[in-house]
Amino acid sequence: MSIQIPFSNSYGQLPARFYSRQPATPVSAPRLIAFNDALAETLGIARGSDDDMARIFAGNEVPPGADPLAQVYAGHQFGGFSPQLGDGRALLLGEVQAPDGTRRDIQLKGAGRTPYSRGGDGRAWLGPVLREYVVSEAMAALGVPTTRALAAVATGDAVFRETALPGAVLTRVAASHIRVGTFQFFAARGDLEALQALFDYTRARHYPDAETPDDLLVSVIDAQAALVAHWLSLGFIHGVMNTDNTTLSGETIDYGPCAFIDDYHPQTVFSSIDRHGRYAYDNQANVIVWNMAQLATCLVPLYDDADAAVERFTAAVHAMPARIEAEWLTRFGAKIGLSAPVEADRTLITGLLDLMARDGADFTNTFRALTDGQARDQFTDRAAFDAWHVRWQARLASEPQPEALMARTNPVFIPRNHRVEEMIEAAVSGDFAPFERLNRVLAAPFTDQPDAADLTRPPQPHERVQQTFCGT
Ligand code: AMP
Ligand code: MG
Repeated sequence: MSIQIPFSNSYGQLPARFYSRQPATPVSAPRLIAFNDALAETLGIARGSDDDMARIFAGNEVPPGADPLAQVYAGHQFGGFSPQLGDGRALLLGEVQAPDGTRRDIQLKGAGRTPYSRGGDGRAWLGPVLREYVVSEAMAALGVPTTRALAAVATGDAVFRETALPGAVLTRVAASHIRVGTFQFFAARGDLEALQALFDYTRARHYPDAETPDDLLVSVIDAQAALVAHWLSLGFIHGVMNTDNTTLSGETIDYGPCAFIDDYHPQTVFSSIDRHGRYAYDNQANVIVWNMAQLATCLVPLYDDADAAVERFTAAVHAMPARIEAEWLTRFGAKIGLSAPVEADRTLITGLLDLMARDGADFTNTFRALTDGQARDQFTDRAAFDAWHVRWQARLASEPQPEALMARTNPVFIPRNHRVEEMIEAAVSGDFAPFERLNRVLAAPFTDQPDAADLTRPPQPHERVQQTFCGT
C-alpha cells in the first residue's frame, strides 16, 4: 500500500530566487528504521508499507503532490556572517495542511547535494539522525515548541566523516523552515521585493495578527523569549544558536551538538566546535537577543523612514531581556511549586541554583526530588540546603497545590547525553532496541516509570560524554 501525504504547497509559489527546485538523490538500499505513527496521524498522513515508506523517506521516490526544493538562506555562524548558506543536505518535500488547520513542512534531511551544499556531501549519518529523532521527540513530549521527527531511514550507503559511517535520512516536520537567516539572505542583497514577499509570507503563515514588520518583530521576540526560557528550565543547551538555526515560528530547530545538563554548571558547553562558549547554557539568553537584533536589522528596509524604524526596533530588542527574565521567573517558579512567582522569589530560585552549582547537583534529579523530599541527598553541603529548605517551605505555605505543579513541571526523564551516545553506538552495530526504548520512555517524561529507573541516573565518570560532535 502506498503512503498518502495530503500535500498543499505554498513555499514553491514564492519567487524562484527563494529556492532551488530538485528531487533528492536516490540511495542504494533504503530501509525504514522508524516511523512516527502518532505524529503522522495528527498530520493526516496514512501509513504505507515499510518498503514504500523507506523509498519515499529516503528520497528514492517523489510522492504524489510533493514539490521538492532546497531553500536558500544566509546566517551568522558563531558571529561571522555567511551570505550564502541554504539547504545543503536537506530538501523540502512540501507542506501538509493538517486536519487541525495548521500548515507543516515535511523535509528530508540528508537527501543529497543541492546547489547550497558548498563542499559538503549532502548526506547525514545515522548518529545525528537518531539523535535528532530522539531529542526532538523528547522536547515535544516535554512541551517545548520544536520541529518533530516523522521518519528515519537507513540508506545502505556509507557516509565518510573521519571514518566510513552508515548513512541515514531524517524526515523532519516543522511549522516552517523560515529562519532569521532567510531574512538575512535577502536583506544582505538589498532585495527589497523579496524581503517584502518573505515578510508577507511569514506573517500570513505564523502571525496573521501581525500587520506590520514592527508587529512581526515583537511576535518573534515573544516566541523566542518564551522558547529560550523553556530551554533553560529544562537544562537544555542547543549548542549552535546561529541565526540560520533560529526560526521565525519560535520552534527549536537543528539539533546538532545539543544536550541536556547533568550536574548543574551554568557555563556548561557540550559542542566540540564551540571553543569560546558562545552558546554555553547561561549565554543562550544573550545570544537570542543578539539574533533578534539581526532580524530587526533585516526588517528596517521595509520602512521608508529608516531612522524611525531603527529607533522602534532598538526599543523592542532592548525590551527582550526583561521578557526572558519574566518567562524565566514563571518557569523556574513553577519548578519550585510557585504558581504565581513574584520578583522577590527570584533570589529563592537563584539561591537553590547557586547551591546546585557549588555542589554539582544533578539539574533534573534535584528539581524532581524536591517533590518527594529526597532533594537533600543531591547536595554535599547539607546544612546550606537545609537553610534554603526552611526559606522555601515558608514561601510555599501560601501555595495551594505545589506538588501537582512541580510534578508536571519537573521531568523524571530527559534524553541524557550518555544514553543518547550509547543508543547511537548500539544502532551503528545494528541494535535499535535502545533507540526504541528511549523513544518509548521519553514519550512520558513526567511519569514515574520504575522499569526505566536506570535512565534517570546521571553518567558515571567513565560514561560522561566530554564533547558532542557536530559530526553531521
Ligand atoms: P547546520 O549545521 O545544520 O546548521 O548547517 C549549516 C550549513 O551547512 C547549512 O547550510 C547546511 O545545509 C550545511 N551543511 C551541513 N552539513 C552538510 C553536508 N553534509 N553537506 C552539505 N551541506 C551541509
Ligand atoms: Mg542549520
